[in-house]
Amino acid sequence: MPSNTKSARLFRLPDQRRNELCDLADFIANDHFANRRIEPAELADKKGIPIKFNHYGDSFDGALEHKAGRFFIYINLDRVERPSSPRARFTLGHELGHYFIDDHRNALCSGSMPSHPSKCEFESRNPVEMEADHFASCLLMPATRFVAKAKKCSVGWQGIQTLCDEFGTSRTSTAVRYVSLNPRPCAIIKWNTDGYGWKWLSTSFFAARLRRTIEDTDRIAIGSATAKALSGEEPGSRGFFQNGSIASAWFPCIRPGTTLDVILIEEAIPIGRFGVLTLLYPESGSLPQIDW
Ligand SMILES: [Zn+2]
Repeated sequence: MPSNTKSARLFRLPDQRRNELCDLADFIANDHFANRRIEPAELADKKGIPIKFNHYGDSFDGALEHKAGRFFIYINLDRVERPSSPRARFTLGHELGHYFIDDHRNALCSGSMPSHPSKCEFESRNPVEMEADHFASCLLMPATRFVAKAKKCSVGWQGIQTLCDEFGTSRTSTAVRYVSLNPRPCAIIKWNTDGYGWKWLSTSFFAARLRRTIEDTDRIAIGSATAKALSGEEPGSRGFFQNGSIASAWFPCIRPGTTLDVILIEEAIPIGRFGVLTLLYPESGSLPQIDW
């Protein structure tokens, strides 16, 4: 079970709702893009929704507006950089989520939910925004084809980067999808420029009771991959830092030297103004099976 915030109980969407949204996105992806990359701009066009790209400052990524019986999507180039960028594609997927999810569309049409500016890629804890983010993730990276491809990729960040290229998705959204679908056990921690942001744990980590991670940057090991990335050091041509670590360095509940204190590979990926991602995965490829 992934945990997507400091308090999973408070902010995680219910599993049933997550599954419903994924089924909806999966159906749309396979209906329109059965054997090719999902193109959200093309989908908007098919639905007769004009897309307006413009510069709107730093306040939002995108918005869906309902006006005089028609829908319009606005995408902020100041946040997504260019119309075809991975973040622009995700933002389009998010806004299409507000269109395709019945509750969201009906609320917009009736005026009970005013059109609102969205901050995408898991930056919002508003349930409506989280639903649209989840829809976008499932739309752009349909589960069956994502897992099939992921199992053929190398372990660690290099494999996730291959998936980014395959699906045209950002490093953050691809990493979250990877952890959620658990093709291999791993955990991802997002650090904002001002500290801890959120984390996602694959079901394998959760089952092995590797759950609560350190959240205080002062507890990150000096000289570690994450410390280097957070200090602004340049990672070189690979684009990320890597070192060996142990579970007890990241999960305070694990006692040093016990069975669960496994060797982890730590990889830290600078993502520009959005901060740093830390990817953790067991060096052996699996985690101890625990009978509780
Ligand atoms: Zn939104």
